[in-house]
Formats: sequence, C-alpha cells, structure tokens
Amino acid sequence: MAAYKRVSESVALITLQNPPVNALSAAVRQGIVDTVERALSDPNVTAVVICGQNGVFCGGADIKEFGSNMSGPPLIPMIHAIESANKPVVAAIEGSALGGGLELALGCHYRIAHSKARLGLPEVSLGLLPAAGGSQRLPRLIGVPAALNLITTGRHVTAAEALQLGIVDQVTDHNTVDAAVKFALSVAGRSLDPRRISTYPCPQQPDLDALFEEVMQKVRRSARGAIAPIACVQAVRAAATLPYTQGMAREQELMATLFTSGQARALQYCFFAQRAVGRWRMPSGARWDTSKPRPVHKAAVIGLGTMGRGITVALAQTGLSVIAVETQEKQLMEAKQAVSGMLERGAKRRGVAPALDRIIYSQNIQAVADVDLVIEAVFEDVALKTKVFKQLSAVCKPGTLLCTNTSALDVDQLASETPNPELVVGMHFFAPAHVMKLLEVVYGPRSSPEAVATAMQLGKKMGKASVAVGNCRGFVGNRMLKPYVEQAFFLLEEGATPELVDRALEEFGFPMGVFTMSDLSGLDVGWRVRKGDGLVEPGGASGRSARVRQGRRYSPLGDLLCEHGRFGQKTCRGWYQYDKPGSRVARSDPWLHSFLEAYRAEHGLVARRIDHQEVLERCLYALINEGFHILDDGIAAGPEDIDVIYVSGYGWPRHRGGPMFYANMVGLAKVLERLEHYHQAHPDVPHLQPCSLLRRLVASGSPPIHRWGEVIKKLHSQL
Ligand code: NAD
Repeated sequence: MAAYKRVSESVALITLQNPPVNALSAAVRQGIVDTVERALSDPNVTAVVICGQNGVFCGGADIKEFGSNMSGPPLIPMIHAIESANKPVVAAIEGSALGGGLELALGCHYRIAHSKARLGLPEVSLGLLPAAGGSQRLPRLIGVPAALNLITTGRHVTAAEALQLGIVDQVTDHNTVDAAVKFALSVAGRSLDPRRISTYPCPQQPDLDALFEEVMQKVRRSARGAIAPIACVQAVRAAATLPYTQGMAREQELMATLFTSGQARALQYCFFAQRAVGRWRMPSGARWDTSKPRPVHKAAVIGLGTMGRGITVALAQTGLSVIAVETQEKQLMEAKQAVSGMLERGAKRRGVAPALDRIIYSQNIQAVADVDLVIEAVFEDVALKTKVFKQLSAVCKPGTLLCTNTSALDVDQLASETPNPELVVGMHFFAPAHVMKLLEVVYGPRSSPEAVATAMQLGKKMGKASVAVGNCRGFVGNRMLKPYVEQAFFLLEEGATPELVDRALEEFGFPMGVFTMSDLSGLDVGWRVRKGDGLVEPGGASGRSARVRQGRRYSPLGDLLCEHGRFGQKTCRGWYQYDKPGSRVARSDPWLHSFLEAYRAEHGLVARRIDHQEVLERCLYALINEGFHILDDGIAAGPEDIDVIYVSGYGWPRHRGGPMFYANMVGLAKVLERLEHYHQAHPDVPHLQPCSLLRRLVASGSPPIHRWGEVIKKLHSQL
C-alpha cells in the first residue's frame, strides 16, 4: 500500500505502508504506480516526496514473493516512470533504503537522508544482484570503483558516507520528510534533465580493463565458488561499457541466471533459517514464545584463558557489567592486557568509547555474589568444573544462571552437581569468542525454559547466531565434525594426501580444508580427547589390528604426528610445514609424504588413486549422515538449526545452504545410495552406515527440506 496526501499545498506526499520495513510487495508497487500517476496528473501538484511509514524508507523486495509468480506492476518500469516524471520526485530516506528500496530512491531525482539512515544494495548476500536498474544507475552516479565495492559486498553505508559518495544530496538531523518537502518546493520548476541518472554517462575511469581484471580476481578469491558476486562485477562492467538500455538488458540476463540457480535458493534458505532458529523449541514442548527470559545486567566469567577473554569482551561490548575471575595471577595480568587491547581495537573500529570500565577483575570467586548470570570457561576437566559449579552455587544469589562453555563435557552431569539443575545451560562459544558468530545454547533434560530463553536472548544481544540444541557428546557442530575428520584420515591411509583432501574441500567452498584447519587449531587438542577416551595406544604396532579400536576402524595417524611433536602451526610442523610458529602459510612437507608412504607399507595398505568426488562424498556425506542421527535423536529441532550452526561456525559455504540443505539439493536418494556404497566398501566404519531416518525419509518419497519436520514427527509417532 502507499498513502497519498497533499502537503504544503503543492507537494504530493507518498508514504509506503508495509510493516515492518515497507518491503516492495505487489500491493506497495501498485500503490506507488497509482499515487505517482495521481500526483503527475494533478495540475496543483508541483513536486512529489516519497517516504516510508514508521521511520523506515524501504527494506527492498518482498522476499516472500521470491519463487512465486510475481503479480502486480514490475519494479523496473515503475522506477523508470518516476525518473521520467516531469515534476521533481524526492526520496525522504529514514531508517534504511536497502536493495529495491535504494533502487527506487535512485530513480527519484533527489535523495534526502536522515543522519541515522543506512543505505545499501545487499542483493548479493541472497545470491542475486540489484536488478531493478541498481547495477546500472549506481555506477553512473558514484563511479565504477565505489559502485563495485558496494554491489559486490552488499555492505550498508551510513548517511554520512552516502553523502560523501554522492548517493544522497543532503543529510539532515531533523525531520526528514519536512526537509524533503522543503527541498522539493525549492527545486520545483527546475529542469529535471540533469537529474535522471540513467541518462548519465558512467564517469570515465583510466584503464578500465585492468580495474575490472583486478576486481574480478579479488572477488573470485573471496567468493569461494559463489556466482552472485561475479555476476555483480559483470553487471557493473555492462554499466561502464554499454549504453543504459543495453546495460539493463545485460542486468536482466545475469539476474535470470542467478534467480534460477541453486545458490540463490540456498542463500535465501539461509536467510530464513537464521530467523527460524530464533523460534526455538525443546522436546519438552517449551518454546521461544511461551518462555520469558530473565533480565541480565551483570554477568561473570570464570577462567580468563583463550575463551574467557573473548567472552568477557563480547559481554562488555553488549553493555553488561562483567566480573572476570581468574585464579592464576600471571594469567590475570595477561588477560587484563589482552581484554583491554581487544576492547580498544573494537571500539576504534566502531567509532565508540571502549567499555574498559565495565569490567572488574578478581582472583576471588566470592566477587560474583550478585551477578545475574555466570559463564564458566576453566580448563576442560570435569572434576575442576564440578568444583567450580559447587562453589558458584554456594556463592551466587538465588536464581543466578550458571552456564558452561564446555566443548564436550556432559552439561546435565554438571547440572546434577548443583542444587538447582534447572538454572544450568551450556553456552558453547567458538574461538575467538568476541568474533565468531556462532553460539550453541545447550539444554539438558532439567534446564528450565527460562534459562534457555535467557541464554538465547543474551546470545542475540551479543550479535551471535544462537541455536538451542540438546545435550550430547560434541553437541551438534563437533559431533558432526568427528565423522568428517575421520574420513579425511582414512582417505590418507588409502592413498590421498592432505593437499588433495584440502583442495577438494576448498574448491567446494570451505575457507580451509580439514588438515589446514587441524594445523590451525592444534593437533594436540584432539589427541588429548582421544587419550581421555582410551583410544590412543603407544606407537609401534602395525597391521590391521593396530587400526581397529573399540571394535571399529581407527586411524592412529593424528596420534603418530603428535608423538613426533607435530602439533600444527604452533610447532611449525603438522600436516604441513610453516616458516615460523603461528604462520598461516602452509607448505607441503616432503617428510609427511614419506611418513605416509612408510605408514602404508608398515600396515600393508596399498595406495590407490582418490579423486575429489570421493573426498567430497565421503567427508560430506559422513557429516550429513550424523546430522540425520542428530535430527532423529531430537538434539536439533530441525534441519535449519544444523545448517545455521555449520554456516555460522564451521565455514560451510553459505551459497550451499548448510549440510542438510545440501543433502536436500543433491537428493536424499543419492546421498543414501552413496553412503550404502561406501559402507559396503568399509563395513568397519559405522559412520558410513546410513542413518535410519535418512532411509525413512527416502522411503517417504524424499520430501523437500521444509517438510522434514512434519515427516519426522509423523515417523516418530509411528515408532
Ligand atoms: P585455557 O586453558 O586457555 O583457559 C582456562 C583458564 O581457566 C586458565 O587461565 C586457568 O588459569 C583458568 N582457571 C582454571 N581453574 C580456574 C578456577 N578455579 N577459577 C578461575 N579460573 C580458573 O582454556 P580455553 O581454551 O579458554 O577453554 C576453556 C573452556 O572452553 C574449556 O571448557 C574448553 O573446552 C572450552 N572451549 C574451548 C574452545 C577453544 O577453541 N579453545 C572453544 C570452545 C570451547
């Protein structure tokens, strides 16, 4: 809808009305067409102002309409009609002008923005490009380099930057609509020819070919297989080299390719999945909309190592008062320095004052007596954590929520050591905790809905993609990672190299492959866990029996590397070699290749040729198979939860939608068939045995992913 009103006698004020962001739905577009026509045909109107209701200009296209047959007037002729109008049309931009919203504003003759407004063309993040003339008008208005930057990254700019770039004509701190009306009156009657952006030539750029070549290379590198950023460069190139109408034709052609690509579907799925995980629910029936979070003003962090420091920064940046407790004096001093540095750097980037005075440091756990919530991040040692939880239960005021950042320990067991298990949940952050987007909120059978709601709300406030998951070994993310890493080890035994495995996974779109990732996080971490699980045996044994532990196939390769002191980047040697500790440049290591050959010979393994397809199928399908187990066990409420975890925290390429979405795209029957094939070849690898839920979904006709939830419910009710 669009409302029409006459103001200051001769100005037609058109207000877009479609809460919450005035998206350009069919009704809104129809409203704009009708009201613009009315304004232009009314002889008493000398100028037009377009604004949005409730302080938001326009958030862009209505994503809900994607994929359906578009009805109502199309955007391009609508914007063209505004640009061709013979009366000045001024966009009054409050809140945001994003995507189609900014394209609409670019069709207006003038743009006035409120100082707090944000503008941008974020289509690329949904696998698309600004295809209502945005890719053709913006370069004509602000030049090719700036337009390329905005369109290929989808980043939003502030009103101040928009003014500096030339996107808007004026910025105001006052009422934007009033300013726009005043402005419209002042320009009424002036020639509009110089204000029609589509008629502008693109600003001249020396060495255009070299610029596009350089940008294309950069975009290809960072896109990791995503096609939309590349199409964005091609569309801007069309603006720079072709007349407007031909450029528009190219824009449409590129958009048609993107629109029907699986990538756009995957990215739009991610967009909705991220919203869906906020509507969490627990097997007990507790849900987001019936569980009230408690207010959290003051929090505590116990243990200021790698994780505790990042968590302290994240809490302080959210505006909370934080009590940070560390028993080791040296660690405490180092932590203070590190936390202050992180806060100062973050504040500088965001142009705000650092929140240093929100943190009180202490060596004494008694200091946390009056906090609302505690996050424990001491060593991963069940006895130590139990002791800390007992102390916290004694020290904290009644009702304080006790959260643990454990990666693998049983949250329910920790809860059972406290007098109020309903107040205990896991808050599983990822390193570095102030940077990484993902937070798994782990509930046990006794965690209260209120505790989960509070942790979820705090995660949201910290800007995290927070996902509520059940309690099991490794929770969701690390539980699925285990079979993935295990397959990579087996592939090395069978003839692959770390380079081959990593290249296949990086070409798929991961920022780094299994072995580069393992070198970065440290091989000793997994070694310690495997030792704790009784899996590590002293080296020296050979033959098949040395590669079977606890009745299943086991690869001791990682343990053997650790025995050689190869812990990854920190020791300059791991699956690769590095020039200095912490270096990110992984170089092939001939030692490792000879070691693998000797290992295979010793164990009677004959190397065979392994291709990228096998690497992908075995690593990814084993991971996906575990995802089905997680759904079957009710640890994740739906496939969206798993996919958000993998996209936000594990580097799964967003344009592939997450592992469960990917399985849906590949086809469940195909995933099942390949798992069956590999399980037949490796019967001693239980992770390759297809999950019964996958079988049942295939038997139910492989329903599309948005129907899995109801099918799983039905299948469970039949058991
Ligand atoms: P860390 O070894 O870097 O730090 C632990 C800190 O806790 C040390 O500074 C230690 O002095 C302190 N500490 C020990 N006992 C204490 C006590 N009683 N009171 C106060 N402080 C005490 O460990 P980390 O890597 O930060 O891991 C902490 C927790 O987070 C572990 O449970 C770990 O599994 C989990 N985790 C780690 C990562 C990671 O990548 N490092 C990721 C997710 C979760």
